[in-house]
Amino acid sequence: MPNWTSSPGTPPKSNAITDVACPFCGLVCDDLELAKDETGLRVTKNGCDKAVAGFERKVDGAKPQVDGHDVDLATAIQAATDLIRQSSLPLYGGLGTDVDGIRAVLALADKSGGVVDHALSEAQYRNFRVLQTRGWITTTLTEARNRADIFIILASDVHKLHPRFFERIVNVEQSLFSDTPAKRTIVFVGKGLDQSGAKGPRIGEVITLPCELDRIGEVAAALAAEIRGAPLAVETVAGVPLADVKALAERCQKAAYPVFVWAPPSLDFPNADLIVSTISDLVKDLNVKGRAAGLSLGGNEGGISAGAVGSWQSGFPLRVSFASGKPDYDFLRYAIPRMLGAGEGDLLVWLASFSPDLGPPATKLPTIVLGTPGLKLAGTPKVFIPIGTPGADHAGRIIRVDNVVSLPLRNLGRSDLPKAADILGAIELAL
Ligand code: SF4
Repeated sequence: MPNWTSSPGTPPKSNAITDVACPFCGLVCDDLELAKDETGLRVTKNGCDKAVAGFERKVDGAKPQVDGHDVDLATAIQAATDLIRQSSLPLYGGLGTDVDGIRAVLALADKSGGVVDHALSEAQYRNFRVLQTRGWITTTLTEARNRADIFIILASDVHKLHPRFFERIVNVEQSLFSDTPAKRTIVFVGKGLDQSGAKGPRIGEVITLPCELDRIGEVAAALAAEIRGAPLAVETVAGVPLADVKALAERCQKAAYPVFVWAPPSLDFPNADLIVSTISDLVKDLNVKGRAAGLSLGGNEGGISAGAVGSWQSGFPLRVSFASGKPDYDFLRYAIPRMLGAGEGDLLVWLASFSPDLGPPATKLPTIVLGTPGLKLAGTPKVFIPIGTPGADHAGRIIRVDNVVSLPLRNLGRSDLPKAADILGAIELAL
């Protein structure tokens, strides 16, 4: 058996568990209450549907497997080690894990000469490319909660991705500066966005600029032009009257602290990084005379932790190859979906500890899966090792979507499934 290197954390003794941090989306709300009995965990307060699905899922009974047959854990670890040792270019994908898990993946990729890429990197790179080339002014969840007087939500279904965003950040009764803070304006830019969260005592006007979502760039560019004092000579932009864009520009200029919100996974169309760039530039322009900020959401499945740990360990966020013996960064070349499509790599190692939906892509490559029980699989992997979810089955740490806070996740004692970091560490030791 491997020599486990870290403690899974001590499960709570009481049946009622308070101040629980939720790892099931990038917000990492830390005020949940759960109850635990012989049937498992139950979310009793402050949980959204995602949290209930995540915490209350049954994960007992899953066994390590090699070629679809149950084996003991040591045998599965040895089989995974052998496959990695024989591989010339292992691809480490998925990466749905916490800080410890990512550190362990990077160490293993370094030792085995592999490539690392998170399953949701494509969305994250809509931000990274702007951050790397132009820079931006962004805010934190706490700043937005306390200071924003207008939220401009850009083509992003925030309520679906982060069901408590409006409750925790927008519709809060008090702010740091007032017990009776003013109402806030919410502007939805884009057709068909779920606006059901935008209600409550702090919500004032709710305005919609109904453009098609994939034409958000045109509206953002027109808004940027208005703010810069170079208005367009047209009557409509992407179906939105220019007068409405102009009115929004004036609101933003008069506001004390407008916050522009987008979620990179929602901007799922070509060249969406240009939209992030336009928004970032107009925020910079507003800061010449006043104050404004961007707020990027997303970051589910441990994506923010993966990017942050990748940056501090290797100097680059993700899509890094260690094949040459040093970190080699190329966000196009080392995109695992592209590499799989081009027949590159000879082994896929997939890690998914939060959601059963983050299954590995269909591939002819032999695959090692370290996954939460019930993970959706396209075929039978060579090796499957069930792992725990940080914050439910073992303790851990995860970085919140605004990149400024890393939150401790507790062992709630849901199961005794092992930590991904321990399995990866055992493989690295054996390699
Ligand atoms: S909004 Fe996200 S972090 Fe908050 S309870 Fe729901 S899934 Fe968990």
